[in-house]
Amino acid sequence: MIIEHNPKELAAMAEFHKGNRAEGLRLQEEFASEFREEYKDKDHCPCKKACRYHGNCKECVAIHRAHQEHVPNCMRPVLNQKIKLLSELTEHTIAGEIEMPKEILRKEFQ
Ligand code: SF4
Repeated sequence: MIIEHNPKELAAMAEFHKGNRAEGLRLQEEFASEFREEYKDKDHCPCKKACRYHGNCKECVAIHRAHQEHVPNCMRPVLNQKIKLLSELTEHTIAGEIEMPKEILRKEFQ
Protein backbone atom coordinates (compact mmCIF):
# COMPACT_ATOMS: atom_id res chain seq x y z
CA MET A 1 0.00 0.00 0.00
CA ILE A 2 1.32 3.42 -0.91
CA ILE A 3 0.47 6.41 1.27
CA GLU A 4 1.56 9.36 -0.85
CA HIS A 5 -0.80 9.80 -3.84
CA ASN A 6 -2.89 6.83 -2.69
CA PRO A 7 -5.57 6.21 -5.39
CA LYS A 8 -8.36 5.63 -2.86
CA GLU A 9 -7.63 8.82 -0.99
CA LEU A 10 -7.35 10.75 -4.27
CA ALA A 11 -10.77 9.35 -5.23
CA ALA A 12 -12.11 10.43 -1.82
CA MET A 13 -10.90 13.99 -2.42
CA ALA A 14 -12.45 14.01 -5.90
CA GLU A 15 -15.80 13.10 -4.31
CA PHE A 16 -15.44 15.86 -1.68
CA HIS A 17 -14.72 18.39 -4.45
CA LYS A 18 -17.87 17.28 -6.30
CA GLY A 19 -19.85 17.84 -3.12
CA ASN A 20 -20.35 14.12 -2.43
CA ARG A 21 -19.33 14.24 1.21
CA ALA A 22 -20.83 10.88 2.19
CA GLU A 23 -18.93 9.05 -0.56
CA GLY A 24 -15.75 10.98 0.23
CA LEU A 25 -16.00 9.97 3.87
CA ARG A 26 -16.68 6.35 2.95
CA LEU A 27 -13.60 6.16 0.72
CA GLN A 28 -11.53 8.01 3.30
CA GLU A 29 -12.48 5.50 5.98
CA GLU A 30 -11.57 2.65 3.62
CA PHE A 31 -8.14 4.24 3.17
CA ALA A 32 -7.74 4.72 6.93
CA SER A 33 -8.83 1.15 7.59
CA GLU A 34 -6.37 -0.27 5.03
CA PHE A 35 -3.65 1.97 6.51
CA ARG A 36 -4.39 0.73 10.05
CA GLU A 37 -4.07 -2.87 8.95
CA GLU A 38 -1.03 -2.49 6.67
CA TYR A 39 0.99 -0.35 9.06
CA LYS A 40 0.05 -2.15 12.27
CA ASP A 41 3.64 -3.29 12.72
CA LYS A 42 5.45 -1.47 9.88
CA ASP A 43 7.21 1.87 9.78
CA HIS A 44 4.95 4.42 8.05
CA CYS A 45 7.16 7.46 8.60
CA PRO A 46 9.27 8.62 5.62
CA CYS A 47 11.44 10.96 7.70
CA LYS A 48 15.16 10.10 7.37
CA LYS A 49 16.40 12.20 10.25
CA ALA A 50 18.00 10.73 13.34
CA CYS A 51 15.12 11.52 15.66
CA ARG A 52 13.77 9.79 18.74
CA TYR A 53 10.20 10.68 17.74
CA HIS A 54 10.42 8.80 14.41
CA GLY A 55 6.97 7.41 13.60
CA ASN A 56 5.42 8.97 16.71
CA CYS A 57 3.10 11.39 14.88
CA LYS A 58 1.37 12.63 18.02
CA GLU A 59 4.55 13.94 19.61
CA CYS A 60 6.20 14.90 16.30
CA VAL A 61 3.25 17.12 15.31
CA ALA A 62 3.03 18.60 18.83
CA ILE A 63 6.71 19.57 18.66
CA HIS A 64 6.25 21.28 15.29
CA ARG A 65 3.07 23.03 16.46
CA ALA A 66 4.95 24.19 19.52
CA HIS A 67 7.99 25.70 17.78
CA GLN A 68 6.04 26.97 14.73
CA GLU A 69 9.16 27.06 12.52
CA HIS A 70 8.38 24.38 9.97
CA VAL A 71 6.25 21.32 9.35
CA PRO A 72 6.91 17.61 10.04
CA ASN A 73 9.22 16.12 7.40
CA CYS A 74 6.51 13.91 5.89
CA MET A 75 4.66 17.09 4.85
CA ARG A 76 7.59 18.58 2.94
CA PRO A 77 6.77 17.05 -0.48
CA VAL A 78 3.19 18.38 -0.34
CA LEU A 79 4.35 21.91 0.49
CA ASN A 80 7.33 21.83 -1.88
CA GLN A 81 4.98 20.92 -4.71
CA LYS A 82 2.97 24.09 -4.03
CA ILE A 83 6.04 26.26 -3.37
CA LYS A 84 7.55 25.11 -6.67
CA LEU A 85 4.51 26.46 -8.50
CA LEU A 86 4.82 29.81 -6.71
CA SER A 87 8.56 29.86 -7.37
CA GLU A 88 7.86 29.78 -11.11
CA LEU A 89 6.52 33.33 -10.72
CA THR A 90 10.09 34.57 -10.26
CA GLU A 91 11.68 31.99 -12.58
CA HIS A 92 13.02 30.12 -9.52
CA THR A 93 15.50 32.92 -8.77
CA ILE A 94 14.81 32.34 -5.07
CA ALA A 95 17.03 29.25 -5.43
CA GLY A 96 20.05 31.56 -5.61
CA GLU A 97 19.12 33.22 -2.35
CA ILE A 98 18.67 30.18 -0.15
CA GLU A 99 20.78 27.31 1.12
CA MET A 100 19.46 24.04 2.51
CA PRO A 101 20.63 23.46 6.09
CA LYS A 102 22.59 20.29 6.85
CA GLU A 103 20.46 17.59 8.42
CA ILE A 104 21.58 14.77 10.68
CA LEU A 105 20.20 11.60 9.12
CA ARG A 106 19.92 8.06 10.44
CA LYS A 107 22.94 5.87 9.64
CA GLU A 108 21.26 4.05 6.72
CA PHE A 109 20.75 7.36 4.89
CA GLN A 110 24.21 8.93 5.48
S1 SF4 B 1 4.13 13.42 11.56
FE1 SF4 B 1 6.27 13.10 12.09
S2 SF4 B 1 6.34 11.03 12.88
FE2 SF4 B 1 4.44 11.21 11.75
S3 SF4 B 1 4.93 10.49 9.68
FE3 SF4 B 1 5.19 12.72 9.72
S4 SF4 B 1 7.36 13.04 10.16
FE4 SF4 B 1 6.87 10.93 10.71
